[in-house]
Amino acid sequence: MIPFLSLKDVTALHGDEINAAVTRVVNSGWYLQGEENKRFEANYANFLGAKHCIGCANGLDALIWIFRAYIELGVMQPGDEVIVPANTYIATILSITENGLKPVLVEPKLNTLEIDDDLIEAHITSKTKAICIVHLYGRNAYTDKIGALCKKYNLKLVEDNAQAHGCKHTDGRTTGSIGDAAGHSFYPGKNLGALGDGGAVTTSDDKLAEAVRTLANYGSSKKYVFKYTGRNSRLDEIQAAVLDVKLKYLVEDNAHRKMVANYYYDNIKNPLVSLPDRLHDSQNAYHLFPILSEKRDELHDYLDKNGVGTVIHYPIAPHKQECYKEWNAMILPITEYIADHELSLPISPSISLDEAKTVVELINKF
Ligand SMILES: *Cc1c(COP(=O)(O)O)cnc(C)c1O
Repeated sequence: MIPFLSLKDVTALHGDEINAAVTRVVNSGWYLQGEENKRFEANYANFLGAKHCIGCANGLDALIWIFRAYIELGVMQPGDEVIVPANTYIATILSITENGLKPVLVEPKLNTLEIDDDLIEAHITSKTKAICIVHLYGRNAYTDKIGALCKKYNLKLVEDNAQAHGCKHTDGRTTGSIGDAAGHSFYPGKNLGALGDGGAVTTSDDKLAEAVRTLANYGSSKKYVFKYTGRNSRLDEIQAAVLDVKLKYLVEDNAHRKMVANYYYDNIKNPLVSLPDRLHDSQNAYHLFPILSEKRDELHDYLDKNGVGTVIHYPIAPHKQECYKEWNAMILPITEYIADHELSLPISPSISLDEAKTVVELINKF
């Protein structure tokens, strides 16, 4: 049996240190807003090359706080538009609509699966205030063309870095430090995953950082003084301590993912299966290994019968979801093609090369 992802095995890779960190917090008697958060925030900001990191409750909240903070600071107002890839996890879109902003969905490129930067400019209007890129599957979605559009039209660049911890752009900058602000998720299955929910906002903008930190703490900047109608959305000390251990091994763990991915790229040979463009250097954190197949559902069932777990990311595109009825009639052929043909193969810091070989042998026989 080769599971799609064994969180138990992933945690066990650094199990002793994680257990020691959890025990340290348990015994400390201090569980929120303490030294563990301070240390992790400083280390993660430093890792990314960002000035500020603000821990919060989860990745969705991180993105919500970025847009909400821009509204509180008067940079955006409800009704403004945010350009966003149509092919993404629903949380990206939810963070925009939650703030009364309007997502403008842009198709991805089929060879990269990321937002098509050639299509963005045509979607910019006088109401556009930001481009939100998503480094989906762990692949860098930033391009110099996107950076130039942000400059030309004075738009904020927000990064959804939930799937791409440790990924880089060709110029060496780490994703999550390229735009004006980034939202990160530490959901257990992510490259940098906690033992429960967690998230963070990173930015080098002092005002934005201050607003996000305030919003995520009831809107309170000083004890019992409330500046905004915020919420309780904090990262707890146990999760911060666990994340600080795992951050030390992130580069190593991503290198293992890359080795597995390279094996897949070099050895998968089946005309029924196509792979997205192979990215060079560190432009891919290999959070997921997406493939496309005309026989996707048959391939999924065949691998399942042979003991290999695979998952579809994602079977229903955001514009086809019941929660966004108003978009259900939209036709976004590439996004829909991906929803109908994508399948993610097992990839993680704990999968062995022998297991990857078994996956490839099965695919090549399909
Ligand atoms: C996981 C994820 C999120 C949300 O993170 P949570 O911590 O689960 O709230 C947002 N965007 C993308 C692309 C994700 O994969």
